[in-house]
Amino acid sequence: MNNKKVFCEALTEGNTEKLLKIPKSDLHNHSVKGCRRKWLEERLNLSFPEPPEKFDGLEGMQKWFSSSIKPYCTGKDGIILRWEGAFAEAKRNNIVRLCMNFGPDEIELVGGMDSFTDLITGFHKQYCPGTRFEPELTYISACDIDHETGMMDKYVSSGFFRSIDVCGGENIKPFEAFLPLYRKAERYHLIKKMHVGESGSAEDVRRAADILGLNEVHHGIHARQSVEVMRFLADNGVILNVCPSSNVMLGYAEDYKDHPIKVLYENGVKVTINTDDLLIFDSSVENEYLTLYNAGTLSAEELNEIRINGLKGKYE
Ligand SMILES: [Zn+2]
Repeated sequence: MNNKKVFCEALTEGNTEKLLKIPKSDLHNHSVKGCRRKWLEERLNLSFPEPPEKFDGLEGMQKWFSSSIKPYCTGKDGIILRWEGAFAEAKRNNIVRLCMNFGPDEIELVGGMDSFTDLITGFHKQYCPGTRFEPELTYISACDIDHETGMMDKYVSSGFFRSIDVCGGENIKPFEAFLPLYRKAERYHLIKKMHVGESGSAEDVRRAADILGLNEVHHGIHARQSVEVMRFLADNGVILNVCPSSNVMLGYAEDYKDHPIKVLYENGVKVTINTDDLLIFDSSVENEYLTLYNAGTLSAEELNEIRINGLKGKYE
């Protein structure tokens, strides 16, 4: 039986076991929060509190994470354990294309680029050697851009990283301020991404894509506010890596039924479905598809088309 048929059947049956076996992608995954809560609980032999149904924005989410989970898996060992869990999840969920992001601070915490690369390559080989793994270097929007641009070579010159991203709060600086970072990334032929249009507007998404030459946008859901911006994204093949549970739990989307992914999809924007911070939102990839199907957001066939888009990526 082909994957499309099994995937659609699994959605209509609500069959999680079947969904787990289907090849999927996760392209918006903050590695240090990329493991499953249950996996971490088993490894640490403790149980974490359930996340609230809604967080008080990004800040509320960070606060909850810092007090409820981080104290039990902190420092170098804690980060390494969470990375291991992220690869274990890729194996469990048959994630055959995985894009995970890592920050310079995390790389330094484990002893710099060489030890970092060994560690991550080791987990990749151990858990999901058949998965196409695309590491992403991410900077927080509040970073010192000149300093980070100067330091970028030591992280990207080995060719380990495939893409660059900026996360951690929008509209902290004008988009132009990030140009040195993205110009340097371009010289290393990195795919250019940014977190934008999660809290920010459709116009923010268009401007960021235009000014920084973004190939992909993490979130970008508020592009749905503007037909012109959606046309711009569709015409330019800019992919939006959408994370429905993250949006609903942080209050950036009202609910699953009316999640912006529906309008974006219907307007020809290329979208993918991803986890963002699995350890916090506790909804793994197969559950994201199932939740959207059960809410009536998109049909099984539409969700399958999105699944296939995630497997292919822009450059195939
Ligand atoms: Zn994110």
